[in-house]
Amino acid sequence: MGMKDFSFESIQQKIERFDIEASSDESGQVIESADGIARVRGLPHVENGEMVEFPNDIYGLVFNLEKDEVICAILERHTAVREGSWVKRTGRVMEIKVGEGLLGRVIDPIGNPMDEKGPVATNAAYPMERSAPGVVERQPVRVPLATGYKIVDSLVPIGRGQRELIIGDRQTGKTTLAVDAIINQKDTGVISVYVAIGQKQATVVKLVADLARHGALENTVIVNAPASSPAITQYLAPYAGCAIAEYFMYEKKRDTLVIYDDLSKHAAAYRHISLLMRRPPGREAFPGDVFYLHSRLLERAAKLSDDLGAGSMTALPIIETQGNDISAYIPTNVISITDGQIFLEADLFNAGVRPAVNAGISVSRVGGSAQQKMMRQVSGTLRIDLAQFREKEAFSMFSSDLDAETIAQLKKGKLMVELLKQNKGGPMATVDQVISLYAGTRNLISDVPSESVDEFEKGLLARFQEKHGDVRRSLVEKGSIDKDLEETLRTIILEYKKEFLDGSASRN
Ligand code: ATP
Ligand code: MG
Repeated sequence: MGMKDFSFESIQQKIERFDIEASSDESGQVIESADGIARVRGLPHVENGEMVEFPNDIYGLVFNLEKDEVICAILERHTAVREGSWVKRTGRVMEIKVGEGLLGRVIDPIGNPMDEKGPVATNAAYPMERSAPGVVERQPVRVPLATGYKIVDSLVPIGRGQRELIIGDRQTGKTTLAVDAIINQKDTGVISVYVAIGQKQATVVKLVADLARHGALENTVIVNAPASSPAITQYLAPYAGCAIAEYFMYEKKRDTLVIYDDLSKHAAAYRHISLLMRRPPGREAFPGDVFYLHSRLLERAAKLSDDLGAGSMTALPIIETQGNDISAYIPTNVISITDGQIFLEADLFNAGVRPAVNAGISVSRVGGSAQQKMMRQVSGTLRIDLAQFREKEAFSMFSSDLDAETIAQLKKGKLMVELLKQNKGGPMATVDQVISLYAGTRNLISDVPSESVDEFEKGLLARFQEKHGDVRRSLVEKGSIDKDLEETLRTIILEYKKEFLDGSASRN
């Protein structure tokens, strides 16, 4: 097989050809079946990516076409496929049943319900693999997709249609960030698809309960391929999730958000299957085309043109690193095919800085143009402030006499770090984020002790809610901080601060 066979066009052509060739009722025989992999003889015209059928309603997926053999992964009940069994072509590619009935449901990548809510009502089938929209079918990313986290929405803003990687070691808050981003879409009309790959069943159950409790489950579809499921199931999960989002994007013209949690486990599942198929392993024993696999998947994220209905798919793939090593094979691959990354760091996480975003190396290459002006106005100097803080913080440990400027920078940095901390499940509206960041970045609250920042912020935002609803509304309407608002914000913040500091002084 030449390289040509791997191009999008040829896959697309093959998909179209399947319908025609479906009549070619070829059948063959299983010559070996072990570990969920079947070697088959006698299907001369079968295509890569085609589904084949075994006895008892068992299906397989063609992975490799060799000279005299076809190698398939068996999708379910693989031990029932025996040597000598018959095998037939189906003329179809892998599909997933789609429809509005999927909302609020948990399914496996084949489409079977995994919750206790009965059969899933669907009305169409979408191919799991599909070529990505071309340049003319897209438009630039312009509308923000707010996560509700100050540090993300200000420093690494995400736009609808963007691909932003969430990357970090084990237990650094990756899933929490992604799930909170889903929760923050509750009233935005965005439909979310959460794909769990190789996770513990209990983790997913808890996450579904979280979504339900926050009223976000009814706009979300969960595709679950738990750690206990076969490698082929875990391999298929992201394609099923992507196809479901495509249905809502193309057919229903909706904005969608897809989380792949995580692609490290997806790569591992693919490696597992490939080794069983005795394909030659490449770097870190991954098959050579794993890069191509992930880039094809993530290319399907898009902001569609107005002609196509202007729907979108924002993708947040997650990658787990070992010991912060982003130069390993899979991390570098996925970094290179996304529009930026949010890097979560174990050291920060363990020091209580949550979300543990490393502001120095986290970037968003396209989201800035989607960011609201008022957010840009308050986040302008934030990255530099934080970077200077980290740098000076390290060196101030060895020095006792610091100049006034350094002391001021350290103080401000410490305050901003406190201000950017945010608890799980506490997403903030953009307008509140702006008020909060305005207070911090404009040096209006440098005399608030860092241990009181959290309490101060809560009080300040409550003050705006209760007494200055007009100012909040005006911010939302204008989307920017003009001279008038600048003055008003300043006055209210300073007034509240005075009360707060007096109040806390009297409490002490
Ligand atoms: P894993 O590598 O196991 O998948 P992860 O990186 O996805 O982990 P999470 O499961 O999201 O990490 O979070 C780990 C723990 O930290 C959880 O108990 C979660 O509740 C807690 N946590 C994460 N983010 C925050 C936060 N912003 N505030 C408070 N707790 C948090
Ligand atoms: Mg996780």
